[in-house]
Amino acid sequence: MRDITDGWCRAGMIHGNIEYIKKRKGLEGIATLDKILKEEGISLTQIRNLHSHDHVPLATLAKFFDASLILFDGDLEKIRDMGRESIKVSFLGRTILPYIFSVNYILTRAPEVWKDHYPVGELVVLENEVKRTRIVVKNFQVNKLWCIYTLGYFIGIGELCKLKNIVGTEPKCVHEGNDSCEFELSWET
Ligand SMILES: [Zn+2]
Repeated sequence: MRDITDGWCRAGMIHGNIEYIKKRKGLEGIATLDKILKEEGISLTQIRNLHSHDHVPLATLAKFFDASLILFDGDLEKIRDMGRESIKVSFLGRTILPYIFSVNYILTRAPEVWKDHYPVGELVVLENEVKRTRIVVKNFQVNKLWCIYTLGYFIGIGELCKLKNIVGTEPKCVHEGNDSCEFELSWET
């Protein structure tokens, strides 16, 4: 397996996930998460005290997802759900996305939004149809949980745009022997 890409994400991304965990598992869940991360040498308190625009290494993000999976008893659906919900509490999800109903327009802006979220890798929209899209993420690798989470994140954006019956898959993945991760989404309008 290839190494985690050397880079960072915004702390705000992890803050949204902490909110999700607090909602689902309460303060007890946060305490357990804190304990698991401490064993990995990561301070949850330190992450929580960061400004949302501050940087967190991608290696820390990977460990955060690993710890979350332990907390959710290995339920991958919860990781995807965390992506779906975290976009809704994010700055973008609260202030901008609910007022842009065209998912096709959002897709045209997605590559630059990627650059604001991650300094490495690249997001390319391969298809931007009325009821379907294909998105590829190149030169970027965290762990499989990131992919599951990100698919949920894309579905969450679709839900904010009031799309119905959204179906999302990841037919190609760097963790399954492909060169890049490819996400496919289809929906009803
Ligand atoms: Zn992937």
